Amino acid sequence: MKIGILAVQGDFEAHAAMLQQLGAQTAEVRTPADLDGCDGLILPGGESTTQLKFLLEEGLADKIVKFAERGGAIFGTCAGAILLAKDVQHPRQDSLNLMDMTVVRNAYGRQIASDVVRGPTVLKKEPLEMVFIRGPVIERAGPGVKVLAEYAGKPALVQRENILAATFHPELTDDTTVHEHFLRLAGSHRKRTNGGKSST
Ligand code: GLN
Repeated sequence: MKIGILAVQGDFEAHAAMLQQLGAQTAEVRTPADLDGCDGLILPGGESTTQLKFLLEEGLADKIVKFAERGGAIFGTCAGAILLAKDVQHPRQDSLNLMDMTVVRNAYGRQIASDVVRGPTVLKKEPLEMVFIRGPVIERAGPGVKVLAEYAGKPALVQRENILAATFHPELTDDTTVHEHFLRLAGSHRKRTNGGKSST
């Protein structure tokens, strides 16, 4: 299993460490060609305006949208979730438009602007530890978008088919639950593209 990680800026190394701990191969993605052969892609936290500019300039935005259309698994955390959202506010910003949701940037307010909290999740019995760093609030999740975890009554981890988005940073805790879930998604893509055959 090979997972690409957008490595422009932000915390891509923490994602790589967690995925490697789970037995996945990782590849830093900076050009469209870097995405070839990947079963999944992580869009890490950082600054979404800077990241979007890079994706557009390098021709990566189109490539990522095509990757998703072919069923490739994508996981956006924090700034990455902003890049995936159909509707971005505060301020308005373009996006890859891969998840039908409205996000409001930097909207948790001062108190939990940067904090470690816990919230309920459908992925396990115990509440999920969530590290927020100037994260966006998901104000609307469209039909077909499943809420997998929430905090303070707002969705914090959402999924639509092969696309996963978190407003927090699961890579900054010791809990591998969310990354394990993402690897299962990427694994099902791998089976489809191999025509059901497993490969090494
Ligand atoms: N505040 C950043 C943005 O709006 C996201 C912060 C993060 O990724 N930790 O792009």
